[in-house]
Amino acid sequence: MSGGSYDYLCHAWDLDDILAKRGELERMSARLAGLGWAEDAARETEELLVMLRQWQIRSEVRIARLRSVWKAVEWWDSCDWGEDQVRAIVEHFHGCPCDPSLSWSAEQDRWVVTCRAEAATP
Ligand SMILES: [Zn+2]
Repeated sequence: MSGGSYDYLCHAWDLDDILAKRGELERMSARLAGLGWAEDAARETEELLVMLRQWQIRSEVRIARLRSVWKAVEWWDSCDWGEDQVRAIVEHFHGCPCDPSLSWSAEQDRWVVTCRAEAATP
């Protein structure tokens, strides 16, 4: 076979590339560790996998926290929402990490944020 056993892992140049080849990276790590004479390369490959896992977990937590704010600004800039809605979402964001819902209250004559953290509490 002329290369490609690890889906050309050697052609991964950046984070996007390596994230798409994590399975191959895991197989490469195990392969290097199994050789018995490439411990340093095996260890660094494994460390890279650990870093990717940590980065994934941390970024997913951050994405979940920011999602509602990003949506509000995107909807605002697409002329679907107004500043009042974005302000309501950002105000909620200051004190709560949940992904809230937003609805118009005719009774209060303003946008009302429903906190999912509160909604989940029995
Ligand atoms: Zn909340």
